[in-house]
Amino acid sequence: MKSCPQCGAPVADDARFCTQCGYSFQGQPAQPQAAYRLPETKQRGSIWAVLGPVLAILIIGIGLLLVPRSFWEKKPKVETETEITVRQEALQMLNEAFETGKAKLEAEMAKGEDADPEKIKELQLALEEVREKIKENQ
Ligand SMILES: [Zn+2]
Repeated sequence: MKSCPQCGAPVADDARFCTQCGYSFQGQPAQPQAAYRLPETKQRGSIWAVLGPVLAILIIGIGLLLVPRSFWEKKPKVETETEITVRQEALQMLNEAFETGKAKLEAEMAKGEDADPEKIKELQLALEEVREKIKENQ
């Protein structure tokens, strides 16, 4: 809705004439509503129209400054020295277990016809397991 600039009556946006006073909208800008309303709001809230956004930015800025810096630092849990050492030692042990298992498997397979298929299967499963654990710890 727009309002008639002459009598102030609400008029349909696409109306060419005011239904109250017959004012002609011909040749008026497409959206006269904004043009007529703006001065009103400007007069009423001129100070706050300017100060409002400035204050809002200031308040947000101060708020951000007050937030402890740790809040912005990377959230993912930081490992302590001890945790890193423990994990690395575990990883090393797993790698060694993997190497040992692999060597055993290769030795068993090298036996050719004398190789124990059960043992090979067992070693392969064990190696898979160790490999999964290595992945978890990396
Ligand atoms: Zn009118």
